Amino acid sequence: MPPNRLPAKNRIFKTNPFPFPNSAFNHQSLAALLRLLLALLLLTAALAAKGPVYVVLWFDTEDYIEPAADDAALRIATDLENLGVRATFKVVGEKARVLEARGRRDVIRALSRHDIGYHSNFHSFQPTPALYLCDMGWLDGAAEFDRRERPGVVDLQRIFGVTPSCYGQPGSSWGPQTYRALLRMGIPVYLDEGEQVGLDDQPFWFGGMLNVFHMGRYLIRPSLDDESLLPQTFEKFDRAAAELEARGGGVISTYFHPTEFVTTAFWDLNFAKGAMPERSEWKNPPRRTAEESERCYRILTKYVEHAKARAGLHFVTARELRLLYESPLVRIADLAPIARHMAERQTFLVTDAAALSAADMLQALLGMDPVVVEGPSSRGESTDHDKEVPRAAFEHAKNQARGFIRARLRLPAEVWIGSKKLSLLDFAATLAADGGTSAAVVLRQGNPEMEKYVATDATRAFDWPIHPEGFSAPQLLELARLQAWTLKPARLK
Ligand SMILES: [Zn+2]
Repeated sequence: MPPNRLPAKNRIFKTNPFPFPNSAFNHQSLAALLRLLLALLLLTAALAAKGPVYVVLWFDTEDYIEPAADDAALRIATDLENLGVRATFKVVGEKARVLEARGRRDVIRALSRHDIGYHSNFHSFQPTPALYLCDMGWLDGAAEFDRRERPGVVDLQRIFGVTPSCYGQPGSSWGPQTYRALLRMGIPVYLDEGEQVGLDDQPFWFGGMLNVFHMGRYLIRPSLDDESLLPQTFEKFDRAAAELEARGGGVISTYFHPTEFVTTAFWDLNFAKGAMPERSEWKNPPRRTAEESERCYRILTKYVEHAKARAGLHFVTARELRLLYESPLVRIADLAPIARHMAERQTFLVTDAAALSAADMLQALLGMDPVVVEGPSSRGESTDHDKEVPRAAFEHAKNQARGFIRARLRLPAEVWIGSKKLSLLDFAATLAADGGTSAAVVLRQGNPEMEKYVATDATRAFDWPIHPEGFSAPQLLELARLQAWTLKPARLK
């Protein structure tokens, strides 16, 4: 949370607890009474300020090789149902087809009573998404993701009877172009973990989707291998929940894979380091003993019971979470503060009334009604290095920018001023600083502060045993920086 948004509790502690010190009202019993009253007031305020904590519990349901993973998914879905908790099962297209082919209607029915998300069509088949997206641009990448991955969504719709509520990439095989494609498949939430983009360890808007991603200290995962570590996990959980309560509410993200409950190594090591063996050569993963599996189920149950016992805490699915957050579309009444902000730095702004992305503010400064837009598809460069441009030329450029945004639902990479161009960043800074009345408009340089929320280490961010050795995708991070125009914190209703 940005520093200008202190939780209510902190504001109270900033006032002086003893308005009448020592001299004038030197009466001990009165002081004691005041102290007691104040303590009561503080307690009431603290209790009233407690925000709701939501736990999103999700399972990447992906192992289509080891049949015991089908039973694990069934057992987890049933155990959770008995605990009165609904989770989100992000299912791989091939896994759904395999469940159908193996006649596991029991598993399909059990998962259907929870929320169904999507976890790619083949998960670890080569090439995985980041690999096939990394040399593609914004539009062709989105089209390619759609071509390869939509058939899995269609199969999930047929087999589970719903459109998946969310998507998350296999491993770290993330790509920004997926956002454009997923919105067109009717999938509004990005639920996963990764380093590529993140904001304050809490849900955020990016690329038009609600993201539960890069959750930092609010990502909590009990170890399935060591039951004795549970008390430590509970402590970490309680600390995280208390912090979120104090800051007005928030989300804890917890995930597992059903296959982890029955195997000791991942099923997809068949595809390690870029390998793509024939089906007949696939090896089943090593199995846990029955006792070990029981321990895993027990750890999950104990974790859920611990979380459930906390007052004001709720388990929510990805589908429910979307409804708990404010719409990303905001109508801005007062332009002065956003003009000041955008003239200095292009990044999101949180006010008492709303959270605004740089794209939201740019549209408002152009006098447009808010719509969900994409960031630019490429990085424009300014070729206009004059100090200022005539008013009429700048007004014409503003009209062109409005026209582009309306027609494409995307921000332009650059805006023409006559035969010269301003990059979107320079255009936005200039627009924000322009008073609108002078005969000439002074050109300003942009300051893309929003880009600091995107990872810079393109090898570490895409580190995954399934990617070819040394795989690095700086192009995907560059596309992500362009989409940071759409980045802002998500706000609970
Ligand atoms: Zn996975």
